[in-house]
Amino acid sequence: MKRFFLFLSICCFAVVLYAQTVKLPIIGISGAHASNGATQVNSTYIRSVLRAGGVPVVLPVNDHPEALKKMIASVDAIIMTGGEDVDPLKYDEEPLPFLETIDPERDVFDIALVKLAVECGIPVLGICRGHQVMNVAFGGTLYQDIHAQIRTDVIKHRQQAPLWYGTHQVQLEKNSVLAKILDKTTVITNSFHHQAVKDVAPGFIVTGRTSDGVVEAMEMKGNPRVFSVQFHPEGPTAHGLDELFPIFTHLMTLARGDTQ
Ligand code: MN
Repeated sequence: MKRFFLFLSICCFAVVLYAQTVKLPIIGISGAHASNGATQVNSTYIRSVLRAGGVPVVLPVNDHPEALKKMIASVDAIIMTGGEDVDPLKYDEEPLPFLETIDPERDVFDIALVKLAVECGIPVLGICRGHQVMNVAFGGTLYQDIHAQIRTDVIKHRQQAPLWYGTHQVQLEKNSVLAKILDKTTVITNSFHHQAVKDVAPGFIVTGRTSDGVVEAMEMKGNPRVFSVQFHPEGPTAHGLDELFPIFTHLMTLARGDTQ
């Protein structure tokens, strides 16, 4: 009996030691407004962060500067999530007829959030709208609608297939952070967008394109801890697939501060 309690105390001690040494990074996930006014984040983002060993925290849309600072101070990395179109006035353009739903409050929040995160040196992963709004936040522009504005042939970027399923190829730049972490230069990804990056923000480089030239990935020049993708890696990752999972494990590594 004595031996059993000794064994039990050693186990408890080991668990406490483990929790103290292995840092579980806190990942702030940018929230959106549901149509009924509720704050929402697709559970695929939550599942992907959990699967990669992070602690997901939803950051609700707000315009409170002090709250924003506290939010950034309390997370180790952020994910800018997908969603509505970005208001073209944010990049000095008039709205075209093919522009879809916009959320002005979310635009203000997302732009402030990503700017402050970069200023504070926090790793950032932008996904879909997150990728586009990051480009706008740092001075880039968007195609309001790929089909209306790109005159050359474009491939299908709004797939009618499940979120976890990849439908188009993306060619990655050899030295990009994505090519390194995925260990390949061609990757098959899902695609759920009708807008795309037009003028790339100063300070960013394009790291991935589809065969029609549409920008599918970017990273910050000299700071690859800030990177973005037009596709949705959280779809297949939450579904248990491994191909794009390294994007999330890499974000956890960055968030733990283990590597640059
Ligand atoms: Mn696409």
